[in-house]
Amino acid sequence: MVQERRKSSNVLLDTALQEFYGAADEMGLNEKLISILSHSERRLEVSVPVEMDDGSVNVFSGYRVQHSTALGPSKGGIRYDPEVDMDECEALAMLMTWKCSLAGIPYGGGKGGISCDPSTMSKKEKERLSRTYGARISPILGKWKDIPAPDMNTSGQEMVWIMDTVSKMREELEPSLLTGKPVSYWGSKGRNEATGRGVATCGLELMKILGKNPSSVTASVQGFGNVGSYTAKTLSDAGVKIVAISDVTGAYYSEHGIDINKAFEVQRSNPKKLLTGFEKVGNCEKIENELFVEAEFLFPCARDGMINRRTAPEIKARYIIEGANGPITPDGDEILAKNGALVVPDFLANSGGVIGSYFEWAQNLQGIFWTEEEYNEKLVRIMKDNFRRVWDYAESKKIRMRRAATMAAIQRVADVVEMRGTFL
Ligand code: NAD
Repeated sequence: MVQERRKSSNVLLDTALQEFYGAADEMGLNEKLISILSHSERRLEVSVPVEMDDGSVNVFSGYRVQHSTALGPSKGGIRYDPEVDMDECEALAMLMTWKCSLAGIPYGGGKGGISCDPSTMSKKEKERLSRTYGARISPILGKWKDIPAPDMNTSGQEMVWIMDTVSKMREELEPSLLTGKPVSYWGSKGRNEATGRGVATCGLELMKILGKNPSSVTASVQGFGNVGSYTAKTLSDAGVKIVAISDVTGAYYSEHGIDINKAFEVQRSNPKKLLTGFEKVGNCEKIENELFVEAEFLFPCARDGMINRRTAPEIKARYIIEGANGPITPDGDEILAKNGALVVPDFLANSGGVIGSYFEWAQNLQGIFWTEEEYNEKLVRIMKDNFRRVWDYAESKKIRMRRAATMAAIQRVADVVEMRGTFL
């Protein structure tokens, strides 16, 4: 009997499911594997009671979803946001399965979070929230089970609170239980720059394939946070002329190329880490929109949905590397394809983050620490190999890179599920 295909009223989950079914059908994956992989292995919901500073108690909802542990322990972030719910976690966990598979690392996919507004909470309230949540999802966490990391509105601090709580409960230090920890406490040198370095590496590898010298290439980078700033810096260090950068304060343009080191200086001296006033010291002008400039390469590294039905027709770049998660909507993607633009998909381009997390976990398991040079050298090598693999696969099948990456990722998981059998 063929099992009915899943649909969801949650847009994110439905998009993840339909993209999976589309790729699976194109690959000719059998219905047994399609049924298994379209469901999550485990979906845990916990209540998280927190004593607030005024003495009252708020009970928050917390989630942890493990979509697949076929390739290894599930891996994925923990986010604190009012929008968090089970369906969102499930969609993001499934995407993590494909991301880890494509990256060639020994992880499945997971995701978790708490439905809360951390901007209204004190540090002590967030500590109590993190510790109680950590304690309640602890039965399914473990260095060989499920390894969370920071995500939206969480950082190394939340990871330390959760690690400390679980370590105390188990009466044993658990450094490899979580990644994204501070360098001073079991973290890794190089992790902070890893995602941007990986995004830029995909861009530079594409230039190599196209026979373009980086110093003759122009690029625009949207977003100057963790991902965007290190993408811009790595590209600029390689000789690429970055003609535009941006953040929430606006877009900054120079036809002669933006001085990225100066942009870092301005951003770091700003209490909110913003580019406020950069046009005055950066020898550049403020423009309406960095997406629409005349640049060959575009790196959207800010947030989801920025390139959509409205903005896609105005984009002049021929090559778009997705640094953020989901910066192009499905209808935006179609418009770009019709206009002849080539897109490198997010779960290939920004996988430097999770590869870097894998490095942290591997070091923690062994109790040794690599130098930053070792870390960067390994990261760049893996990113180049992965990029080439997807490029070659897309070329051989004459399909877009996004579909090629999804198919290659699904195939690796499907092969292992087939080998291990359905008793998982
Ligand atoms: P961040 O908060 O450090 O930076 C986001 C940047 O985007 C900021 O500079 C912000 O000002 C800017 N921005 C927001 N809205 C904008 C707009 N409308 N126009 C222009 N700029 C805008 O976040 P981040 O960690 O750099 O993450 C960025 C994206 O990359 C997210 O989609 C995230 O999920 C994804 N991502 C991050 C990592 C990581 O390791 N940090 C890994 C994989 C994927």
